[in-house]
Amino acid sequence: MELPPHDDGYSLRRLVRTDTGMVFRETIVPDSDVRDLISTVLLNHQGSSRAESAVEDFLLETIPPGVPQDQVQVVRLPTGDDAQIVQFGYQYDIDVRHLQQWDELGVVLEAFLPLIRECLDSSGTEVTARTFADLRTRGLRVVQCERCEQPLTDGHPDWKGVWVSLGDLGGPSCERSMLRDTQDIYSIMVPGPHSIMQS
Ligand SMILES: [Zn+2]
Repeated sequence: MELPPHDDGYSLRRLVRTDTGMVFRETIVPDSDVRDLISTVLLNHQGSSRAESAVEDFLLETIPPGVPQDQVQVVRLPTGDDAQIVQFGYQYDIDVRHLQQWDELGVVLEAFLPLIRECLDSSGTEVTARTFADLRTRGLRVVQCERCEQPLTDGHPDWKGVWVSLGDLGGPSCERSMLRDTQDIYSIMVPGPHSIMQS
């Protein structure tokens, strides 16, 4: 299964047959700001399991209060051909064997609504300076452009050693770096490289 590109968060709901019977399974995918931050951080660590564990701890610890945390897992999401781009989401199963109607499932799901809202409402998942700082305190290599504020990686499989954001498929392209001096030959609104924020 390959997930389509989304800027906003979204959820995938389906019925799954498991060893113990049918379950309702919901996978919640955070919005692209959060996904890109995590993916670039993990690229900066080149598949380190320690870095992945630190990211998983961060996601678990930021689950909103009141949500039954012991039922929520952080799961690695399928990314199709971009196997080196790692993305994480939340997932939980609800046993439906004893439910009779869909309305009953809705009642059970109410407990998870704060997490669903946080991931699907872009204002709820806004990546803040605090988020960057939190990940850094976990020993993670978090790099941000001081102009456009995008999270950056120098470990992207197509741009090794060059600082790019995940949207820079054609190479480094900082939208805030364009020169504006009309007398200058280089002032033709061509984006330049990102500027690394020193922290
Ligand atoms: Zn930039």
